[in-house]
Amino acid sequence: MYGRVRKKRIVAAGVLTLALVFAVVFAVVWRSCARTQQAPSYDLWVAGIPVTQQILPEGYAGRPGMKRKVRQIVIHETANTSRGANAKSHAKYLLEYAKDTEISWHYTVDDHEIYQHLPEDEVGWHAGDKLTKGGGNQAGIGVEICINEDGDYEKALINAEKLTAHLLYKYDMTIDDVKQHADFMQKNCPTLLRDSGRWEEFLQKTAEYLKTEQNDSSETQK
Ligand SMILES: [Zn+2]
Repeated sequence: MYGRVRKKRIVAAGVLTLALVFAVVFAVVWRSCARTQQAPSYDLWVAGIPVTQQILPEGYAGRPGMKRKVRQIVIHETANTSRGANAKSHAKYLLEYAKDTEISWHYTVDDHEIYQHLPEDEVGWHAGDKLTKGGGNQAGIGVEICINEDGDYEKALINAEKLTAHLLYKYDMTIDDVKQHADFMQKNCPTLLRDSGRWEEFLQKTAEYLKTEQNDSSETQK
């Protein structure tokens, strides 16, 4: 009789210890999972789109570091339809390639996020017109729109329109200050927008988003 009670107690203690060990292991695993599942932190948001600032280091060939006044937005398309050729992969590409090569632009936009590669008040090498005063490189903010086949081009367009409207508003510019890369050199860029005859539509939607920005700010000023 006495022995059976003791045996029961030992079994109960064993079960309790096991449960405790399981609980600790579960808690540790759960915490580490929760940590890795945390949403990535973004540097800022523009019109509801997350922006990561991955600015090219000073001294890179792609970052001449020349300050200027922003006078226009220069729209490009990446011309890269490969799977995964999104904003993030272009940021990675620039970080490697712009070190020794004079190539750069300010923003890459895809269907879900934006990467910034240069400060807005610095010259970039994207328009092919060297340092022509008031030209695409010297006075433009270069925006690349992704056309990767596994991305949603329509969404990327909307995000680019919103970013462009935001920049127009920020620098007190008008819709006439939105230019194509093709305005500065003989190159069919932004290719899809030009070939599909949708450039006017891009401008029209950007103008609508600009109006929204202006209305929003006058609301908050009231
Ligand atoms: Zn271009």
